[in-house]
Amino acid sequence: MLNFSLTPEQIALRDKARRFAIDEVLPIAWYYDEQDELPLYILKKAWDEGIMNLTIPQKYGGQGRGLLECALVVEEISAACAGIATSIFDNSLGTEPLLLSRNAKVKEKYLPVLIKDFKLICFATSEPLAGSDVAGLRCKAEKSGDDYILNGTKYWVTNSGVADYYAIFATIDPSLGHKGIAAFLVEKGWAGVKVGETIPKMGQRGSNTAGIHFTNCRVPAENVLAQPGEGFIMAMTAFSRTRPIIGSFGVGAARSAMEMAVDYAKKRKAFGARLADFQAIDFKIAEMYQKVETARLLTWKAAWENDSGMDPTISASIAKFYCTEAAFEVVSDALQIFGGYGYTRLFPIEKLLRDMRLPMIYEGTSEIQRVVVSRYVLDGYKPVMPPIEDFPLLAKHDVHLEAAEGKKDTIAWRCRICGHMHYGPEPPEECPHCFFPKTAFKKVWPRG
Ligand SMILES: Cc1cc2nc3c(=O)[nH]c(=O)nc-3n(C[C@H](O)[C@H](O)[C@H](O)COP(=O)(O)OP(=O)(O)OC[C@H]3O[C@@H](n4cnc5c(N)ncnc54)[C@H](O)[C@@H]3O)c2cc1C
Repeated sequence: MLNFSLTPEQIALRDKARRFAIDEVLPIAWYYDEQDELPLYILKKAWDEGIMNLTIPQKYGGQGRGLLECALVVEEISAACAGIATSIFDNSLGTEPLLLSRNAKVKEKYLPVLIKDFKLICFATSEPLAGSDVAGLRCKAEKSGDDYILNGTKYWVTNSGVADYYAIFATIDPSLGHKGIAAFLVEKGWAGVKVGETIPKMGQRGSNTAGIHFTNCRVPAENVLAQPGEGFIMAMTAFSRTRPIIGSFGVGAARSAMEMAVDYAKKRKAFGARLADFQAIDFKIAEMYQKVETARLLTWKAAWENDSGMDPTISASIAKFYCTEAAFEVVSDALQIFGGYGYTRLFPIEKLLRDMRLPMIYEGTSEIQRVVVSRYVLDGYKPVMPPIEDFPLLAKHDVHLEAAEGKKDTIAWRCRICGHMHYGPEPPEECPHCFFPKTAFKKVWPRG
């Protein structure tokens, strides 16, 4: 049975995140955006509040929450600041390889620490020369006894400037493509690890992004998260669990933009009337709300699939590209309703617009989500209706009855080229429309 209602526990968690977003994140979001700096103390407060690391199982001391709970929390925090929300949720992305790993020891060593102490863990597949093409990554992992030696650069790594742990994807041989990729849990202080300067960004400036460079960094065997050949699928599985939540960034920011625009439209006057009295404005508002609601449903569906043990990959991609693009449209419409004020740095909308440009890029661009979904629709989707060439578009209403009575000449034939229907015991020698020969005709009625 479908059910869109939340449990009392989920409502309590959402309300806690909402209070945190309004009391803690909203007041400082613009300051840190302007400073281009991550407010680390806010991440610590989120950790104290128990709204970080939600998916770590109870057996490691965590809350064992599902993706739906992550979606609820992230929507609220992103409604206050998508950048800070990105950095808070990044611990869940960084934790995914640990959760998915078949190496029990590495899980037992690090997962409880993330609950016990305020520790940040980031996730790195991307490199300066490989983002969308994860199988094309080049950071090298060379076997040395049972250990591995890392050499190379990871780039665009959220929180890497402040993280304690890094989930690093590297290859034993770039020519092996996805078959060469392994994953490793690397610690900040290890020899051969160097973090780059913060990358200056257009938006989400309250989130830290930097590169990590490895020079002969030794990773002990017990810190292998995925053996060579297992890393690529680990990364893809992680993305199918985190992409719905990228959708939630969009839902939260779009919801805020809509609320600000509605408030402004009710107060601002032009031509002697409120903006909200103009249908052109109201229709924009209706579409904003439609997009917020649709986006939320898509994120919830993908999260529900994951939490129910189903493979959420396709729903996750749909949610990601719909929600993030819808959010950008909603924020842009909100900015339009604010007129010139929307374009200034004195009103909050321009930050939302800059912040919402990013979710269409990270964790797989909108184009990559379309690649995933189109491949599924073309190759994996099972059609419900018969193919067009089997359509019995019966033009004679009595053909059905006559066929039932066994009359031979009521057989219907369909030309597979132009669709012409012919009735009779045999197809015609030649199609009267497209002139293709008899062989172009297929018997479509009676069926079977
Ligand atoms: C602020 C920020 C934070 C990030 N955080 C992280 C992180 O924490 N960890 C991490 O690993 N990465 C992170 N990333 C990297 C992000 O995932 C990549 O930027 C993204 O996957 C795109 O890769 P790229 O930038 O190399 O672009 P490219 O892969 O070079 O793509 C360039 C353009 O070509 C298009 N394109 C590429 N291939 C195809 C194709 N097959 N079909 C159609 N179009 C295609 C892309 O959609 C894009 O428009 C972050 C990026 C940013 C900007």
